Amino acid sequence: MKIQEIRTYLMQVGAPPLSAWAADGSFGSHEAAAPSSRNWLFVRVVTDQGITGIGECSGWPRVVETAVKDLAHLLIGEDPADIERLCQKMHIAMMGHGLTSVVGWGAISGLEMALWDIKGKVLGTPVWNLLGGKVRDRIRIYSHAGTPAVAQSLLARGITAVKVGGVAQAVAKVAAIREALGSRVDIMVDLHGPPWLTPSDAIRMGRALEPYDLLFLEDPIAPDNVEGYKRIRDQIAIPLAAGERMAAIWGLRPLIEHELVDVVQPDTGRAGGILQLRKIAAMAEAHYISVAPHSGSLGPVAEYAALHFLASIPNCLMLERIEDDWPVRHQVIVPALHSVDGHLAVPDRPGLGVDIDEAVVAAHPSTFNVAVPIAESAGSYEPGTFREHVYYQSRLRRTGWFSVEKPKP
Ligand SMILES: [Mg+2]
Repeated sequence: MKIQEIRTYLMQVGAPPLSAWAADGSFGSHEAAAPSSRNWLFVRVVTDQGITGIGECSGWPRVVETAVKDLAHLLIGEDPADIERLCQKMHIAMMGHGLTSVVGWGAISGLEMALWDIKGKVLGTPVWNLLGGKVRDRIRIYSHAGTPAVAQSLLARGITAVKVGGVAQAVAKVAAIREALGSRVDIMVDLHGPPWLTPSDAIRMGRALEPYDLLFLEDPIAPDNVEGYKRIRDQIAIPLAAGERMAAIWGLRPLIEHELVDVVQPDTGRAGGILQLRKIAAMAEAHYISVAPHSGSLGPVAEYAALHFLASIPNCLMLERIEDDWPVRHQVIVPALHSVDGHLAVPDRPGLGVDIDEAVVAAHPSTFNVAVPIAESAGSYEPGTFREHVYYQSRLRRTGWFSVEKPKP
């Protein structure tokens, strides 16, 4: 069997969902943020035997599509069974571009995922069965909530873990959710590691959050600030999580090797593929770190890949998933993926067990793919100074959001 062709499918997913923005306007309005739209990129690896594999790349999809097309000639004529060797070939081919970060690994991720899909179809078995078999039949998911009402509605659907996003009033939001729902939900906080948030800020936030028994505190500062993570880890008693912006074993290595986090969150569409995810999980396992892949920005093919991966590892914590973000999430794939009792069932069809509906992709052509900074959409800067001092203008405004917070008893 030889690889004959690589096809890409880039689509505009739409504006962010209303639920992504705080009801009190503290994160701007949905209308103001509409330009910060999202793309999904799917790839299809076509073989000369008629079997094809599907994959998905994240990490800046419009740019990654160019990378995929550039790498395609390295795969044409190759045996799709040689997954590790082909990944090495692509990785080494990109050396001249500098470190292979999320764009390069994003391209490899989708292609590699498609090779696993082909292998599973050829062998007539699900991908998880090729990764050592199943540890579990279903994967727990968590979703996003900023208010007790949203958390309650998720709980009514069986989702028992919710994440509060952003710095603004994070302590107050967590306190309100914990007060309303008690121990019926696990709560996490994602500070999104903005460059203007200092380790001292994160420690202050963390101490205020300690009484609420968080499952983890995610990206308390920019994730490449290793020394900052050490300070935070040593001064607050909350498990830390990070890793969504990193790729491959080398990208996640500092977080794992120095045990800076308790949970790693590789992104299935840009971590470098299922093999890289398995290696990252093994490194993490050796340090008693669990795995909860980032999936908030991903499309549904990468979610399928995450299910196969998570089914096969011992240290799976759960999977991030916003089910109600864009309706096309459920339209662009066959079969659609819906949670039951807060879990996604591990697929048992050969390969990844999913394909895309190309007509749905074609109906949503990509037009733009760079987010307007939240600071700009929220107007949280002084006019005329934004471009020179975006981080610090943001900080001036936003530290006010949490410095006045008083944790409730
Ligand atoms: Mg995050």
